[in-house]
Amino acid sequence: MAFTKKTVRDADVDGKRVLMRVDFNVPLKDGVVTDDTRVRAAVPTIQYLKEHNAKIILMSHLGRPKGDGPEPAFSLKPAAEKLAEVTGYDVKFVDDTYGEKAAEAVAALEPGDILVLENVRFDKREKKNDPEIAKTLASYGDIFVLDAFGTAHRAQGSVVGPAAYLPAYAGFLLEKEVDTLTSIFAEPERPFVAIVGGSKVSSKIGVLDHLIDSADTLIIGGGMAYTFFLAQGRSVGLSLKEEDWVERAGEMLKKAEEKGVKILLPIDNRVADHFGEDAVPEVVSSDAIPDDREGMDIGPETEKLYADAVKAAKTVFWNGPMGVFEFDNFAHGTEAVARAIADSDCTSIIGGGDSVAAINKFGLADKMSWISTGGGASMELVEGKALPGVEALLDA
Ligand code: ADP
Ligand code: MG
Repeated sequence: MAFTKKTVRDADVDGKRVLMRVDFNVPLKDGVVTDDTRVRAAVPTIQYLKEHNAKIILMSHLGRPKGDGPEPAFSLKPAAEKLAEVTGYDVKFVDDTYGEKAAEAVAALEPGDILVLENVRFDKREKKNDPEIAKTLASYGDIFVLDAFGTAHRAQGSVVGPAAYLPAYAGFLLEKEVDTLTSIFAEPERPFVAIVGGSKVSSKIGVLDHLIDSADTLIIGGGMAYTFFLAQGRSVGLSLKEEDWVERAGEMLKKAEEKGVKILLPIDNRVADHFGEDAVPEVVSSDAIPDDREGMDIGPETEKLYADAVKAAKTVFWNGPMGVFEFDNFAHGTEAVARAIADSDCTSIIGGGDSVAAINKFGLADKMSWISTGGGASMELVEGKALPGVEALLDA
């Protein structure tokens, strides 16, 4: 499935004011950007616009301010400075979003200039998708570009609003994300192995359901595995479990069987007597989890089983860690799976905030074919949902 919306390539941007929604929702510590992945991800489109003489106006949210006015801890200024640092471009910043000061800063732009507006969420109306907000923002531009993949699933003022007033195009990041995350499910090179982990079945049910429709093998790990164990009638001790989802988990197993999708669940586990950084792992079979232990990671035999499945795959999609990877004692399973993917020639697509954090922690990011910059947005695509931000763009 190719991307079906118009992109900046289709727009005449020469000398035009291009209002672009980016995702500069970066982590900050003491006013310094601690991970610039999202800023870097926006650079190709910014570079293209600059090289094509556009007047570039960038807007984004950052964090969760109250929405009653400026809050210095959530200012976009550090992100603007980071953009200047990584591109070498002169980047202007205005500490205003919807007022006269912002409008004046926009009016002063020359072709090739880059201006970053202050956090769109300093006004409550942004999240409510208030038309006044959209109108004000749209007045800054001649065309609108959406490149904020990480927020494309939210129908908020700066994401979908300007498209009602301006011709609206996709940026390169948005195009690549949507294209990658939809085409692997439409026409994966087989065998297609999907790996799902993380804490809860309940938060991943749509993902699991959709994956059973397209994958050849579905690997399950992490805390959610224990709810599947319950569905199989096994006992799980103190492991994370969602009693209300046992039935659904059982239905998933049945659906997979009917469709001929192979499901792999852990055969052994690293368990502990409490949940903590200092907990000591013990390896137990999945049929013998003691009542006073909780499953924290997949075990060594399971690592081998999963690595073999990955080795045989042509396409791998991965979301959700195999264990409590934040604790070094229980990061082993997640790392083993990450390394198996890194060592394989398969097309590998990774989505989900914690999964991406894990891969970065192991230093394996550049070994993957594509790492999605959007947590929630990528999961919604994988569930087969349309993203409101993308829907609002012009059809190609
Ligand atoms: P992602 O952000 O990649 O989509 P999730 O948010 O679904 O992933 O899950 C990540 C969380 O799941 C991590 O914080 C991890 O510690 C937790 N987790 C993984 N395995 C277990 C387990 N066995 N018990 C408790 N928590 C777990
Ligand atoms: Mg998460």
